[in-house]
Amino acid sequence: MSLGEKRLFVLVSVGGLVLLAALVSLALYLTAPRLSEFHPDLPGVIAVTALLGLAIVAVGLGLIALAVVTGRRVVFGQRVASSVVRIVFPLVRMLSAVVGLDRDAVKRSFIAVNNALVAGGALPGRDARVLLLLPHCLQAASCPHRITGGLIENCERCGQCVIAGLVDLARERRLALAVATGGTLARRVIGEVRPAAIIAVACEADLTAGIQDSYPLPVYGILNERPHGPCVDTTVDLENIRRAIGLLSRKAGGP
Ligand code: SF4
Repeated sequence: MSLGEKRLFVLVSVGGLVLLAALVSLALYLTAPRLSEFHPDLPGVIAVTALLGLAIVAVGLGLIALAVVTGRRVVFGQRVASSVVRIVFPLVRMLSAVVGLDRDAVKRSFIAVNNALVAGGALPGRDARVLLLLPHCLQAASCPHRITGGLIENCERCGQCVIAGLVDLARERRLALAVATGGTLARRVIGEVRPAAIIAVACEADLTAGIQDSYPLPVYGILNERPHGPCVDTTVDLENIRRAIGLLSRKAGGP
């Protein structure tokens, strides 16, 4: 994903932070006389607390911008940066809707930033398990085999859809592999597999929700392709999956 794509999220986040700082300042200015009636130090305490919170978010955004621009690991700041992404995303969505930005473009930018942070982060241990989590819509709509949950072995690898290639890839790279029909099943699979990291394939909306739901588990998101429209007979570029596997395996000390 390009630097330009990631930049959108960072820019809107900075705009959101400036707006939030202005709103907090205005609220404090308007309420200070009333607050000081409770205690003369109260406005000052609230102002310092708000300033501290905003400063932490600003530092996190700075670390994110650094990771996005340099493509390198943010030393000591990975956790802060990931937390900030999660905190500011609702603000970014709100602001984007107000100024009329393309919702999917903002989500793609969020996914790109998240991937940059996952790529720059560390996985715990050499034998770290990576789960390849797929959406049900990758399976050919005409396929009679049930492959969701833990039933991926039912795929006969006929080659009619991309699942065949993904099964081979998962075997070759010794990954856990599962197909989920939604968030509930995905959570169950994650609970059973207990991966150190996830490579998830989905549309913008599901990836965005999945990345946030799974925090602090690192999720590397890959968008599916939808030549027949959403949710039916979708596909994914296997090269993108290979690249993500290589990236996470190297970090986990794998082959
Ligand atoms: S590759 Fe597997 S999932 Fe896809 S149509 Fe063939 S049997 Fe079904």
